[in-house]
Amino acid sequence: MYMKISELKLLIDKWAPPGVAWDRDNPGLQVGDPTDQVSGILLAFDATSEAVKYAKAKKYNLIITHHPLLFHSVKNINTSRPGIPSVLKSAIKNDITVLSYHTNLDFTSGGVSFALAEKLGLKKIQFLEPVASKRNKLVVFVPADSFEKIADAVFNVGGGVIGAYRNCSFSSKGTGTFFGEDNSNPVLGEKGQIENVEEVRLEILFNEWDREAVLRSIYQNHPYEQPAVDIYKLENLHENFGSGAIGELENEISEKDFLQLVAKRLNVPALRHNALNGKKVKKVALCGGAGEEYYKRAITLGADAYVTADIRYHNFIDSAGSILLVDAGHYETEAHILENLKIRIEDLITGKNIPVEIYSENANPVFYYINEE
Ligand SMILES: [Zn+2]
Repeated sequence: MYMKISELKLLIDKWAPPGVAWDRDNPGLQVGDPTDQVSGILLAFDATSEAVKYAKAKKYNLIITHHPLLFHSVKNINTSRPGIPSVLKSAIKNDITVLSYHTNLDFTSGGVSFALAEKLGLKKIQFLEPVASKRNKLVVFVPADSFEKIADAVFNVGGGVIGAYRNCSFSSKGTGTFFGEDNSNPVLGEKGQIENVEEVRLEILFNEWDREAVLRSIYQNHPYEQPAVDIYKLENLHENFGSGAIGELENEISEKDFLQLVAKRLNVPALRHNALNGKKVKKVALCGGAGEEYYKRAITLGADAYVTADIRYHNFIDSAGSILLVDAGHYETEAHILENLKIRIEDLITGKNIPVEIYSENANPVFYYINEE
């Protein structure tokens, strides 16, 4: 049973849509031929030369990474240089495709921060900060007998999802008016006179990244030669996508026990943290990777501790006394997503006999020197 790389990508995109990623991010295809059949999948944190070599040895032609290989603009590719140029060269030479799921995987439910929250044993996990907007409301006026067909067409391309609910819509009956010019061809009523027709006003929410597919689904299914379609930009927060996560430990524990739990579960030899102040820890906020900018949001939501990475010096001072701020390492706070990704992908390729493996050898580029003197 074969599957094209592009087909698998479309399935994963439904979970972590590229459209929800940061505007300056570059998720998706990095290098390769998406029309190739998938022979095997290596899940790697970064696309390194070692990971490409490993994939080649195992005859896997697809590497899925968290960090994009191509992030900053590339002006030339000097293949004698290590790093990106040599990775590109060996990927192309060996017909290996690299796909990345970066901030779209950070912002999705069950993504990077949710994986971290699960790893720390948190319960009642929610987004720390839901993404604003990126969603629209569609209003389309349809004859009553076409209502279901058009609503279904919009649902089929991803419209009508609110939280854990699908096929969400609202409809109300009313009267539409029109005057068809000589060159018109109305389905209901006659041209050349004012017409009043019974119509249904259909309202459905959709994500900005599905805009084209939603409009196409309407124009392909609407019986009118000129459908009336309105799109409103929404200001409210999105229930299904956001940054970071917040949840609760089963029982409240001391700050020291919490640090011990983080170090143990994430397998970090050393943690950087701000001053301890003797408070118990129960409510925990976190963000996999460089998420220090959300620590104030964690304080606002009443979190006792905030775990992230790449925290700068002055934030340890500013946060002292308000929250236990913990830097547990970039790799250590993000890499667990590969386990979730593996489970998801294995589910998507059930019965296809495609191996999926996590690359873990020397995957963390950061090393710790522990002074034992
Ligand atoms: Zn990262």
